[in-house]
Amino acid sequence: MKRTLLAASVALLAGSAMADDHQQPNIIYVIGDGMGFEFISAYRYAMSDLETKTMAETQFDHYLTGAAMTYPEDDTWVTDSAASATALATGEKSYNGAIGMDNDKTSLKTVMEYAKDSGYMTGSVSTSQINHATPASFFAHHPSRYEYNQIADLMGQQILDGDAAYDVILGGGQQYFIRDDKNWAELIEQQGVSVITDMQQLEQIQQAPVMGLFAPKGLPHAIDEGKDSLARMTSTALRLLGNGDKPFALMIEGSQIDWCGHANDIACAVHEMDSLNKTLEVVNEYIENNPNTLFVMTADHSTGGLTLGRDGEYAWYSDRVMDIEHSIAYMREKMLVMDADLWPRYVADLVNFELTAEHIERLAAASALEGEVREDALHQALAYITGDITGTGWTSSGHTAVDVPVYATGPHSEQFRGFMDNTQLGKRLIDIVR
Ligand SMILES: [Zn+2]
Repeated sequence: MKRTLLAASVALLAGSAMADDHQQPNIIYVIGDGMGFEFISAYRYAMSDLETKTMAETQFDHYLTGAAMTYPEDDTWVTDSAASATALATGEKSYNGAIGMDNDKTSLKTVMEYAKDSGYMTGSVSTSQINHATPASFFAHHPSRYEYNQIADLMGQQILDGDAAYDVILGGGQQYFIRDDKNWAELIEQQGVSVITDMQQLEQIQQAPVMGLFAPKGLPHAIDEGKDSLARMTSTALRLLGNGDKPFALMIEGSQIDWCGHANDIACAVHEMDSLNKTLEVVNEYIENNPNTLFVMTADHSTGGLTLGRDGEYAWYSDRVMDIEHSIAYMREKMLVMDADLWPRYVADLVNFELTAEHIERLAAASALEGEVREDALHQALAYITGDITGTGWTSSGHTAVDVPVYATGPHSEQFRGFMDNTQLGKRLIDIVR
């Protein structure tokens, strides 16, 4: 009797020790596309009160652990999203444009593929199309990020072959997966994958595998009509991936911080940061209830050369940023189909600021042009006006080479401290899941 009890308790002890040793942590890997430190500062100040100096506590102020370099293996210090996502996903540097491939165009195994081999459930959530550079670099291998149809074909074919490295993949991209020459939605549904195209279906989905394609390409900007889309998709992904006995690895991309940066559109960028902040609230709640979860967040690069303050003036008008009601892209689209005489009033109403003579002159100059040149000039004028009103500077319509923040909490988070190269994030995550 005694012996049996003892044997049973020894077995129990051994069992629990085994479980601890072998229970690999869930991974939540967040990438703010284009989210340099400048964007973190902009968001914090935009949420805070200048008069009382009451600083808003944002989700970006928890868990900051270090900074990372982002340069690619190319003839430049400035990376694109494909090379950087490849580094973050595989631990290897590559050239600008590479999707999960090295400089010799050899496929590199990604953290999601390693995780799958170890028995993980895996997934991705993004506000870009799901075959865009960042998510694609975790699940596909292609020499060029711009071959969207081919990358969609690779991702669809994986389902047919039964070796997809994703169980839940949510974002945009209908036009690449539902085409006249190839309807992947139909083909993969025959394999038992639910394909949903309406955000309303998110809450109804009960189990993986699922592919969500909620827009032809990227989802609408947060400032326009995409406010809660990333947080909603994340809630669903965590519910589907986190309810089994298997660990999971989920990549979440705030894709459009970068797009607003390319557009030199400060209000758009701050609202994308807010959308990511709301998503991090969802993630934090999950982590609190599931402590065996490693959270790592970084950016792939910064975008636009954003400065808070410009032209020698010691001011950044966060309240004016928050008064802007729509993205530049939204305003431009509406303005191109209206009488140009109405432009100044329309812009003043949506930015909630009286335009100066110079602003009005810039709009008039754009209106005198034709075709694409007119569209570009109008965009430039709107970027100038919103920058001038708010004290925001931009130096580029592309990326910049500055270091980006690194955040981590949970098991193994000590490995993400200090100064590092972006490949180290990929390498360390691979070591943890393999
Ligand atoms: Zn970009």
